[in-house]
Amino acid sequence: QNPTVGFIGLGSMGGGMTRNLQRAGFPLVVTDLRPESAAELIAGGARWAPTAAEVAAASDLVITMLPTPRHVSDAVSGPGGVLEGIRDGGTWIDMSTSVPEVADAVRAANAGRGLHILDAPVSGMSVGAANGTLQIFVGGEAADVERLRPVFEAMGDPERILHVGGNGAGYAVKLMINQLWFSHLVATAEVLAVGVKAGVDLGVLRDSLVASPANSTFVERDVLSILEHGDYDEGFALALACKDLGLSIDLARSVGVPVELSALVDQVFRRGRAQYGDRAGEMAPFQLYEDLIGT
Ligand code: NAD
Repeated sequence: QNPTVGFIGLGSMGGGMTRNLQRAGFPLVVTDLRPESAAELIAGGARWAPTAAEVAAASDLVITMLPTPRHVSDAVSGPGGVLEGIRDGGTWIDMSTSVPEVADAVRAANAGRGLHILDAPVSGMSVGAANGTLQIFVGGEAADVERLRPVFEAMGDPERILHVGGNGAGYAVKLMINQLWFSHLVATAEVLAVGVKAGVDLGVLRDSLVASPANSTFVERDVLSILEHGDYDEGFALALACKDLGLSIDLARSVGVPVELSALVDQVFRRGRAQYGDRAGEMAPFQLYEDLIGT
């Protein structure tokens, strides 16, 4: 008998993740601020609960997939939150791109309750959530990670479910992935603009980068989807990309590492957000350079 999974946050990511849990045979209890986001799941047999507390009370383990640390804190520690419903010894997995402070406070305030808490943020875009091919970076106790592996495997690529360390390590890994990813975007857009202005054909320049040691997934895959399909990945809002860059810089500051490049990338993304809006896709800042490239 599969455990019942409680799932809070049925947006771009949570929508696909829950459909895959359902397909894999996990009974679901779900909630979201937008009830309409659960319609398809309910038609497939999931139960709706009006609050996070009721989700937690009706499930064997609870997953949160929410936009920001503030949303996670509200859904877990706020009125009607997970902590009001979860049983002693219960499990909470936060799969949001977030920071350890929320879970640390929960642990400190509930020391005697034997809660199992893991951070397990993901990469792979909303298409990976829909296809069940996410990469999952788990921070927590090894025994918990093993026990929960079937749950993770329902949502992610089994080869890329990585136990990356103790509590909080998953969050740190995920923030560093996005920091490097967004740095690739800015670095790539700059060199394309300069090379094209210097007279090189855009396609030739891109192919040359792909053939060189400077190749990256951004150069090889995303430049094409931007230039050929105008796809800036609207499944991941630019506002959330800026949230991640801010959290990444906060993390650097908290551990005393100077990050000049990260700060510049953050500013480029904030300029993109001012220009194109919160709901533009995560890769929209590339457009700041497209006029120069002449596409
Ligand atoms: P989203 O905005 O599409 O979805 C978030 C959902 O949470 C919404 O449906 C919203 O109504 C709901 N919600 C907010 N507060 C709530 C509360 N208190 N109780 C119940 N529901 C609540 O966001 P998303 O794109 O699915 O991202 C979720 C997390 O995953 C973020 O931390 C994001 O950074 C991360 N992430 C996103 C992507 C992507 O490609 N979209 C990829 C990797 C990681």
